[in-house]
Amino acid sequence: MRYVVAIDIGGTDIKAALVNENLEIISSSLRPTPKLDSAAVKTIATIKEIVNELSKGYTVSALGVCVCGVFDDINGICIWSGNLDWKNVHLQELLAQELAIPVVAGHDIRTAGTAEMRNGAAAGYANSIFIAIGTGIAASLVIDGLIRSADGYAGEIGHLDVGGDAQCVCGRKGCLEAEASALAISTAYEKAAGKSGVSTEEIAKLVRDDDPIASQVWNDAMLALARACETLITTLSPEAIIFGGGLAKSRELLINPISDALDKRLTFQRKPELKIAHYESTAGTVGCAMAAFDLINEAL
Ligand SMILES: [Zn+2]
Repeated sequence: MRYVVAIDIGGTDIKAALVNENLEIISSSLRPTPKLDSAAVKTIATIKEIVNELSKGYTVSALGVCVCGVFDDINGICIWSGNLDWKNVHLQELLAQELAIPVVAGHDIRTAGTAEMRNGAAAGYANSIFIAIGTGIAASLVIDGLIRSADGYAGEIGHLDVGGDAQCVCGRKGCLEAEASALAISTAYEKAAGKSGVSTEEIAKLVRDDDPIASQVWNDAMLALARACETLITTLSPEAIIFGGGLAKSRELLINPISDALDKRLTFQRKPELKIAHYESTAGTVGCAMAAFDLINEAL
């Protein structure tokens, strides 16, 4: 049996796992993403520690890593990441210098989208969109059977203008992720309720209990997501939209209001199936493992 380490670098956490070639997670680790790390020095050191820790007792053949932001998948370069404060970080090269195993680096959402396309909720559709809602929001666009990234710039739907007034990490106001990411929902609820440290899982529970403040914040976020979905449907006409990332744990609380809003908003467009990611919030990890096994299989 062969093993790889899969690491998903998000704006809040670094999720890592030791994965076997049946794509089974053997062990996993979760650490906070280092802050104030624009040169990625602390993140590289953390990844090295994680690989050493997860490799104990196993022979690891490769590392697959994915990261949020605008990412050049061919060269493994993070061009820009608002949530990590990275610009032109040569992630694949930096990791390869530090580790004695082959490394492949990619975009977090396209990597997760690949897992969903091969084995998950997007399997069987020639045209689909995988939307991950976590600290930020981005999409993997499958058009005519292929994930399209346009040199890494495509799919940054978190920065579609949905007409709000919240400040976004990109420097503008009104972006989707400033209105409807897990971080944005928590921030908006905390501001409205005068509380702090409230997770989206707790807010979702309050929504189920008909709490008026939580329901208002949630409905505003769902409307912003529906507006973005409408734009994507009108432009790309996917057969399915798949929701992943932390917010996908809310399942019907996410799908139903977006579906209802689309029923009111769409006129001539075909309505896609709305689904929750098969791998839920581990799609990035599974996708990284797939990329790592692809790398070692190509080398054989
Ligand atoms: Zn933005």
